[in-house]
Amino acid sequence: MNILVLNCGSSSLKYQLISMVTEEVLAIGICERIGIDGSLIKHTPINGKKITIKCDMPNHEIAVQLVLKALTDKTYGAIKSMDEISAVGHRIVHGGEFFTDSVIIDDTVIKAIESCTELAPLHNPANLTGIAACQAIIPNVQNVAVFDTAFHQTMPEKAYLYALPYDYYERLKIRRYGFHGTSHKYVAHRTAKFLNKNIEDLKIVVCHLGNGASVCAIDAGKSVDTSMGLTPLEGLAMGTRSGDLDPKIPDFIAEAEGLTHNEVMDVLNKKSGVLGLSGISSDFRDLENAVAKGNKRAMMTMDVFEYRVAKYIGAYAASMNGLDAVVFTAGLGENNKDVRKGICKYLTYLGVKVDDKLNDCRSIERDFSAEDATTHSMVIPTNEELMIARETKMLV
Ligand code: AMP
Repeated sequence: MNILVLNCGSSSLKYQLISMVTEEVLAIGICERIGIDGSLIKHTPINGKKITIKCDMPNHEIAVQLVLKALTDKTYGAIKSMDEISAVGHRIVHGGEFFTDSVIIDDTVIKAIESCTELAPLHNPANLTGIAACQAIIPNVQNVAVFDTAFHQTMPEKAYLYALPYDYYERLKIRRYGFHGTSHKYVAHRTAKFLNKNIEDLKIVVCHLGNGASVCAIDAGKSVDTSMGLTPLEGLAMGTRSGDLDPKIPDFIAEAEGLTHNEVMDVLNKKSGVLGLSGISSDFRDLENAVAKGNKRAMMTMDVFEYRVAKYIGAYAASMNGLDAVVFTAGLGENNKDVRKGICKYLTYLGVKVDDKLNDCRSIERDFSAEDATTHSMVIPTNEELMIARETKMLV
């Protein structure tokens, strides 16, 4: 049984074909610049070299067609025909309050995803184009929706309500939804497995630190709080996103700088965070290089980033009234030992103590806590695509 996993962005489409017998990735790739001049596919088959195919991709339907063509190509494909695809798992960003789990896609599900578009105007429409393309091209293959928000639907009211007029929650559905749910869930389950414990007995904080970053409190396998909110703009300082702010600040910037509402939002989404603070880059590798050269603003930026993550971990230890493991994942969390150490140094009062030798690792599952630590500090590489494939398999 092979599952095709699709992650559609507004002008991109990431895909993986996964064999569910071995959980091996048979092919992986990305379509870039969909609807823009110069579109191309970067495709890597199992045991093969990465190839770049330049082709015209005016829309997602044609992109899906070209992905299927690449997957079944005689030279660089991974399967003989489309019949070898058993189902398609779609990453859907926002499921609002409709979805607490993954679902098989039908017309009702599509309508519900459409109705969440206001909450994720950039992502949900793109996700829907991927579904429509599959329904048109491979109509006999079942599609499954796996939501970034679903895992967080277990949060209690006290965690998801903002202190706004309650009516805004009832009428406008303004509440904390949280994102990266597929990653947080996968990492929490791998953590329990790694520790050889029942997830029901663990209080875990997962730090998903990538270009987008969020922290999640997971008690007995359930998300009880998370740092992203109504949108993925809340919480940590991220690559280009500001994260938490005094709510008056946007208004203040607009007046002081003569900017429109949309222009201010653009600053908060695209010009803030690590990029805005450092003035160097949104990529932590560039920041690391600058820190190594003694750049003071880069050091200050890392301090702000690490401090904010640590504050959230402290808050979530309080939310759960305990902490068994702090787990780092995603690009930065998996690869940057200095950031992990920088965050953990605030957590000694919680029993976190780092073994520097063990912490010297990248993208492997490892407990890097010192022998006398009473709380685990760990790296668990995330794998959202595999999680989507597993949920899809389970449903079909
Ligand atoms: P993600 O969004 O999960 O792809 O993570 C992107 C972030 O992780 C970027 O800021 C990168 O600088 C950082 N990152 C990714 N790979 C590495 C690596 N090998 N070493 C250090 N940082 C990395």
